[in-house]
Amino acid sequence: MSIVLCTWGSFIEGGTEEALTLARKLAASVGAELHWAVLGAAATEAPALAERHGVTSLDVIDDPKLADFQPDALVEALVQYCGQLKPTTILFNQTVAARLIAPRVAGRLGAAVVMNAFAFAAHEGGLDVTATAFGGDTHVVYRLTAPLSVVSIVTTTVVAEPAAQAAPPARRAVAVDLSGVTERFRVVSSPKAEGPRLEDAQIIVSGGRGLGSAQNYDLVKQLADALGGMWGGSRAIVDDGWIDSSRQVGLTGKITRPGLYLAAGISGASQHMAGCSAAKTIVAINKDKDASIYRYARYGIVADCLEVLPELIKAARA
Ligand SMILES: Cc1cc2nc3c(=O)[nH]c(=O)nc-3n(C[C@H](O)[C@H](O)[C@H](O)COP(=O)(O)OP(=O)(O)OC[C@H]3O[C@@H](n4cnc5c(N)ncnc54)[C@H](O)[C@@H]3O)c2cc1C
Repeated sequence: MSIVLCTWGSFIEGGTEEALTLARKLAASVGAELHWAVLGAAATEAPALAERHGVTSLDVIDDPKLADFQPDALVEALVQYCGQLKPTTILFNQTVAARLIAPRVAGRLGAAVVMNAFAFAAHEGGLDVTATAFGGDTHVVYRLTAPLSVVSIVTTTVVAEPAAQAAPPARRAVAVDLSGVTERFRVVSSPKAEGPRLEDAQIIVSGGRGLGSAQNYDLVKQLADALGGMWGGSRAIVDDGWIDSSRQVGLTGKITRPGLYLAAGISGASQHMAGCSAAKTIVAINKDKDASIYRYARYGIVADCLEVLPELIKAARA
């Protein structure tokens, strides 16, 4: 019996160690081997992580068509690989790309699929998978009894833990034939992605519609700079064109887990909180004392953020 985590890309994405942690625990609970399928250039970083997380076999799939993000080639490669390995569970770290790939792999393999999962428990003859639903408002437990399950893991609430004993995994080169794949997917534009990633930031200052205007958003940037952090925002202000979508925090944006998340003029809608509720400390500035953000914030300032932000900038620069 085997369980496999699938990874691809030019580097190992954040959340992979957390996904490996859950995968290892699941494999141990059902006595399965843990395979890690790594496609493309990410394979160079994988051996050390695989060793740390008790992976049984590091399965490397290499093909020129996997060099860039080409979903049709990726799906085909994973379907062929799983056809050879015959795993019982196929896991994905739910990156933006994995949201496209996991359901397609499940569809091709006729497998049950659960997205937005964050916990598992094996039961006789199957798997209970806990996942968020309705934009993060609800937790649902799916009881999977199909012979093959595809589960996509959101890792924000998962803590990475290395295996008790590190051991080098077996390493296999897996051959797939992608000669018949004609890619139908073409990236025509993508968010600006230079510099550090919001997902990795330790301090994030985020702004919402309560700032009132794109000009006022400059206060968020100034405070982020003064604190040595990064700036982000809600979807409302991305939609209004105040900031680039690469800065959007939330369910349909970046999933972050900073030490400090300072939210100015943000209501705290569940879709926004899905991208920041794993922060160690949330500080909110909102003039409405009943705003949802205060259900999550450790510290709250019930006030006009246009008055508070300049004071915080002054204090941070002092
Ligand atoms: C499928 C789906 C996916 C979504 N994905 C995301 C996502 O990824 N990220 C995301 O952010 N949203 C997402 N949304 C949108 C989300 O539901 C909210 O509409 C959005 O987060 C609201 O943004 P906001 O808090 O900036 O604006 P608003 O809801 O307008 O809230 C503004 C807040 O500012 C406060 N305020 C006003 N003036 C001041 C002031 N002067 N000082 C202090 N406080 C003030 C108000 O009291 C209010 O609480 C999604 C929605 C759907 C349906």
